[in-house]
Amino acid sequence: MAVAIGRVAEDMIGIDIRPLIDPHGTHRPMAKGVRALLDHLDAGKAFHEIAFPSVDGRRWFCVSGRPVIEDDGSISGWRGVGSDITQVRAGDGTEGIRVARRDALTGLGNRLMIREMLEEGRLRQVAGDGECVLLLLDLDRFKMVNDTLGHAVGDQLLAEVARRLEQACGEQATVGRLGGDEFAVVVGGASDTLTLMTLAERIADAIDRGFHIGMSAIHIGVSIGIARAPSDGDSEDRLMRSADLALYRAKEQGRGRFAFYEPWMLAKAQADRLLENDVREAVRRNDLHLAYQPILDVGTMEVVGYEALLRWSHPERGSIAPDVFVPIIEDVGLIHQIGGWIISEACRQAASWPEGRRVAVNISVAQLTATGLRDSVEEALRESGLAPSKLELEITESVFMGDDAATLAALASLQELGVRLVLDDFGKGYSSFGYLSRACFAKIKIDQLFVRGAANGQHESLAIVNSILALANGLGVETTAEGIETLAQAELMVHLGCSQLQGFLFGRPVTAEVLRITQRHDGKDVLALRRRA
Ligand code: C2E
Ligand code: MG
Ligand code: MG
Repeated sequence: MAVAIGRVAEDMIGIDIRPLIDPHGTHRPMAKGVRALLDHLDAGKAFHEIAFPSVDGRRWFCVSGRPVIEDDGSISGWRGVGSDITQVRAGDGTEGIRVARRDALTGLGNRLMIREMLEEGRLRQVAGDGECVLLLLDLDRFKMVNDTLGHAVGDQLLAEVARRLEQACGEQATVGRLGGDEFAVVVGGASDTLTLMTLAERIADAIDRGFHIGMSAIHIGVSIGIARAPSDGDSEDRLMRSADLALYRAKEQGRGRFAFYEPWMLAKAQADRLLENDVREAVRRNDLHLAYQPILDVGTMEVVGYEALLRWSHPERGSIAPDVFVPIIEDVGLIHQIGGWIISEACRQAASWPEGRRVAVNISVAQLTATGLRDSVEEALRESGLAPSKLELEITESVFMGDDAATLAALASLQELGVRLVLDDFGKGYSSFGYLSRACFAKIKIDQLFVRGAANGQHESLAIVNSILALANGLGVETTAEGIETLAQAELMVHLGCSQLQGFLFGRPVTAEVLRITQRHDGKDVLALRRRA
């Protein structure tokens, strides 16, 4: 409302609304709504959803409010909310107002209503009247339902989700739909963390139960971001932003979770934005390059391949870890461009390596499910002349957390090209052995955490490594132990039956130029050089 008339909400506090709607007391003939509003103000009576036009008649507003009554019975002011309904007002004012706040599909309140509730909550706070909490909800895998079962089923699912959300929230909170598969829940009044966690869990359970729409059994999940006013945001915009950052965090942790807003999330988002600009600049200036780390076969102790690892040396901050900047590259939508370059550069280098050496390229989740990856791989193989069996694509378990059907289709389509699929960092994420049967992996890489743990005598790590190796060897799948730094670790992994080793002990990632020098000695000498050093 304040924004609609070009003012800041804070400025409206303490201002008499009368001159704003009828500046000179001469707004005649007076619109019905203006008359009704003035009548209520004059009579000191609360009013609900009165629609009225602006002085120039160009815009329409809708307001609700009540008088602030002092102990002595006098009215010291008015408190209420309003919004600009110009766009949605059709014909009769009252119908327009109702429609303006409702989401037609689910019957819930819409974004406008949620914003009004937050504004209302904030005004209550200004008056020292409790907290207001916003939960932002985003459905997991909804897009897949829409794409595979059609929009009609998608719509029915949303309506059913709305009903379950209302049930889960009961009297405690109000549910609204912001659009698409995004919902919001507003909790008025003070709520402690435990109460909110219980509510979030109840919501997640309600959605996790699964749905039956027509002939289809549908399983979706929900991620939830939680922000509290005033501590996490003292305006609707800030509160929305905080809840959105918390939602992002919840999704990042693996779907079907909830997260409370914490100040570091904003700090990180701001730092990421700075890096984002730098990443774009680095891509423009070709500041990214690949480093190659050897992988050795246990039987021969010869190099059988290299993993290509992306490197960025920042002009001011020095080298930045790919764990930090690869997610940013994904977020800014550059992963396809850069990912394509990585594959083609790695293939180009590998084509000139001595016989019997493969190159492994890391593929991120965003890259895998986007169209165009298969084309990039095909083109890189064609241009470099590298045999498809010499290219390994490393993916992590996290790809299975998203849309399974699309993931499996993408993996199958890559496999058709004859390249080898490798499951990277196994054991680090959800460690589900079920993933192994989903796609035809040529190799599993055991995360360095377990290699280190097992060598340190940790029983769980040892048990995990043992079961991975038992399964892989049974399936005839190769295994690489990652992050081998000591001889003891290498010996243990060999003893346990691992087929390949990778780690600083055998060689750190080096640039293509350095690699070319060591390769003159052909394989074995990479180790010989190390021993001499
Ligand atoms: P990753 O694929 O598991 O790569 C192995 C990581 O372990 C690399 O870290 C490597 O430098 C490190 N490493 C190897 N041997 C040892 C060792 O003995 N000790 C220790 N402490 N570390 C060792 P890096 O290069 O920092 O990469 C981290 C992650 O970033 C990679 O994990 C990979 O998931 C991702 N990444 C790297 N390059 C790319 C890329 O080109 N594309 C994508 N999508 N992700 C990449
Ligand atoms: Mg890797
Ligand atoms: Mg790894």
